[in-house]
Amino acid sequence: MAVQTKLRRIGTWKANGSMKLDDLRQWHHLYGACRCGHIGYIKHDQLAKKYGGETTLSDLKPKLRCKRNPEHETLNFAAAQEKR
Ligand SMILES: [Zn+2]
Repeated sequence: MAVQTKLRRIGTWKANGSMKLDDLRQWHHLYGACRCGHIGYIKHDQLAKKYGGETTLSDLKPKLRCKRNPEHETLNFAAAQEKR
């Protein structure tokens, strides 16, 4: 299944690279999607503690790698809101 289809299925929208970690709330889920189809759940609250809330998703991009293959560097971000 294509990554975009999977992301739509879990109800995400494309997260802009200029988005800051501070823009995300605890009920937001952040995912990193690789071109190989791997989608990883990103614990954005922990990243905010580690790198600071002013860190943008573009800043994070070089720090995140695909878990399936560390050589994959092309991660796209997607965010979703928890259903309440
Ligand atoms: Zn990958």
